[in-house]
Amino acid sequence: MRIDVVTLFPAIFDGYLTQSLLHKAIVRGLVDIQRHDLRDWAQNVPHRKVDDRPFGGGPGMLIQVEPTVSCVRDIESEILSQGELPPIRKILLTPQGKRFDQRLAEDLATSERVMLLCGRYEGFDQRVHDILEPEEISVGDFVLNGGEVAAMTIIDAVVRLIPGVLGDENSHQDDSFSRGNRLLEFPQYTRPREFEGHFVPEVLLSGDHAAIAAWRAEQTQIRTRARRSDLLDEPT
Ligand code: SAM
Repeated sequence: MRIDVVTLFPAIFDGYLTQSLLHKAIVRGLVDIQRHDLRDWAQNVPHRKVDDRPFGGGPGMLIQVEPTVSCVRDIESEILSQGELPPIRKILLTPQGKRFDQRLAEDLATSERVMLLCGRYEGFDQRVHDILEPEEISVGDFVLNGGEVAAMTIIDAVVRLIPGVLGDENSHQDDSFSRGNRLLEFPQYTRPREFEGHFVPEVLLSGDHAAIAAWRAEQTQIRTRARRSDLLDEPT
C-alpha cells in the first residue's frame, strides 16, 4: 500500500513513522508513506505562502485552491506514470466529514493507493472540495488544530490491518469493532494471578479452551451492553 500525505507540517510525522509497528511496516516494504509539503507548490515563491484571508471577512486563514489542486494533480500523475494502477482514494480530513470507524479502516486497508489531505487554519477553500471531490473524513465530533493527527489516526488504524504488519495475524480478529462485529473486546489478564486481592478469573487458568471461548463471548456481550448499548441496537 502507498499512502501520500499532503501537509503544511511534514515534520510532525517524523517521530511517529520512525517508531514501533509503523516503522517496521515501512522497513519491510508493507507500506510506503510519502509526505508532501504543500508549500512546495506555493505560487508565492519567496514566502512559500499557501493561505489567505477568507472573502467576506471573518477570523483565520484558508488554504488556497491553486497550490492544493496542483499538488494533488502532481502526485496523481507521478503515481499514474508508474503504470496501470488502481485509482487513488483521495481523503480530505475535516471535522465535517463522514465519521471514521473500524469498518472504514477495514475498507481502506484493501486499497493500494490512499492520499490524505491535512487542513490547517480554517481549512481549505471550498473549491478544493468541489474540484478534487475527495472523500471527506472526520475522526470525531471535535476540532483539531490540523489534519495531521487525524491522518496519523487513520494511518495507524489502517496499516495494522495490512497482512504481515502485526506479529500475530489473528491478533486484531477479536479487537473491538473488528470484522463487522459491533462488539467490544472481552477483558484480558496477564501475570500475576493475584494483585492486591484482585484475582484472574478461574476459567482463564483452566486450560479448557471451549469454556474460555464461551466466557469471552459472554463477557463481550456484557461489556458491550454496559458500555456501548448503542452498538447492539444499530443495524449491521
Ligand atoms: N473551520 C473548520 C470547521 O469548523 O469545520 C475547522 C478547521 S480545523 C481548525 C483545521 C483543520 O484540522 C481542518 O481543515 C482539518 O483538516 C483538521 N481537523 C480538525 N478537526 C478534525 C476532525 N475532527 N477530523 C478530521 N480533521 C480535522
